[in-house]
Amino acid sequence: MTNDLLGRHRAVLPDWLALYYEEPIEITHGEGRHVWDSEGNKYLDFFGGILTTMTAHALPEVTKAVSEQAGRIIHSSTLYLNRPMVELAERIAQLSGIPDARVFFTTSGTEANDTALLLATTYRRSNTILAMRNSYHGRSFSSVGITGNRGWSPTSLSPLQTLYVHGGVRTRGPYAALSDADFIAACVDDLRDLLGHTRPPAALIAEPIQGVGGFTSPPDGLYAAFREVLQEHGVLWIADEVQTGWGRTGEHFWGWQAHGRSGPPDIMTFAKGIGNGMSIGGVVARSEIMNCLDANSISTFGGTQITMAAGLANLTYLLEHDLQGNARRVGGMLIERIRSAAAQVPHVREVRGRGLMIGIELTRPGTDEADWQAASAVLEAARAGGLLIGKGGGHNTSALRVAPPLSLNVAEAEEGAEILESALRSIQ
Ligand code: PLP
Repeated sequence: MTNDLLGRHRAVLPDWLALYYEEPIEITHGEGRHVWDSEGNKYLDFFGGILTTMTAHALPEVTKAVSEQAGRIIHSSTLYLNRPMVELAERIAQLSGIPDARVFFTTSGTEANDTALLLATTYRRSNTILAMRNSYHGRSFSSVGITGNRGWSPTSLSPLQTLYVHGGVRTRGPYAALSDADFIAACVDDLRDLLGHTRPPAALIAEPIQGVGGFTSPPDGLYAAFREVLQEHGVLWIADEVQTGWGRTGEHFWGWQAHGRSGPPDIMTFAKGIGNGMSIGGVVARSEIMNCLDANSISTFGGTQITMAAGLANLTYLLEHDLQGNARRVGGMLIERIRSAAAQVPHVREVRGRGLMIGIELTRPGTDEADWQAASAVLEAARAGGLLIGKGGGHNTSALRVAPPLSLNVAEAEEGAEILESALRSIQ
């Protein structure tokens, strides 16, 4: 059955649509932190779609809100007033920390970033963008154009001029040996150098923790240091919170908050977890920036009632059950558990991240060489043991990504860590 589906998939879908596992699986249903495939295998889900199942699979509160909304109206477009859209925008504007915030809903993170780029380039009248090395911002023409991770950037014909800034990868290469303070100073020098040799860019776009890039986390304070330099040149800061938002990092509701004194970004983009799998993306910016566009616009599917109902129910559950606090507590225990398991495995170069966003970087033992084969082998072994995790990293993905739904409990964290430990040991 699955093989037949795989053949049909390959016959009709693009080759570049990434598919996990030598024998890809079809997930048919889920509950809580578990999913089942079409062969009846049960898995503990430590990737939650792609960080999209934020609270839990088949969360009754979300299911109820969606089915009640479907019974009333699924969609009416942005041409008419839409109560759930206004309500979710109000809540996100307030949570964003951005003063006088306006929210625009899209249907994906890609489209959210595209809109952020449109706003920044129009506001600043510049088509130069600063982006981070190893970054990922989506798959539209503009967002792949600025994406720094070469493995996910299929064209060099971007309509935007992009300059890349250091600050993402630190496990290997010349930056590896630097202290946090020296690393930040080196990255700031690099940024100053770039700004001194170019027309003023519109914005710097950055993921507070790089997602597709393998959960690479810059030292706290990097973006605050960048911000000071950017402000000297009037350059906007776009925080891409598509993976880091909604409390996933445990200590903070947004990833940018780890950079303390930077204050909120000028523009913030979000997507993934807010809809618990329903397609919601969006942009938040202060009104002066959001309203710089001098033309009419609509979003046919952005903000549609059915997705907004899911978003409201999901966000309410997240806040009422303090899932950010849960991510901090259970994530803290999980990362320590993974660190102690990894200490026995020479392939593991680093275990990093915060909250329920944990990356495990694999290199060939005793070298700096990224070991994507080991990463694939661990991914396969974890699946065979009943655990789904993700991969990430540079062109050859050499990092494992652990990002379960934020309602993960201690027993599940322990069970997942045990499976991961034996998967890691299996590659030695
Ligand atoms: N930005 C970041 C940080 C992402 O991780 C992704 C997707 O993985 C995107 C943007 C694009 O989002 P989407 O796949 O919803 O278009």
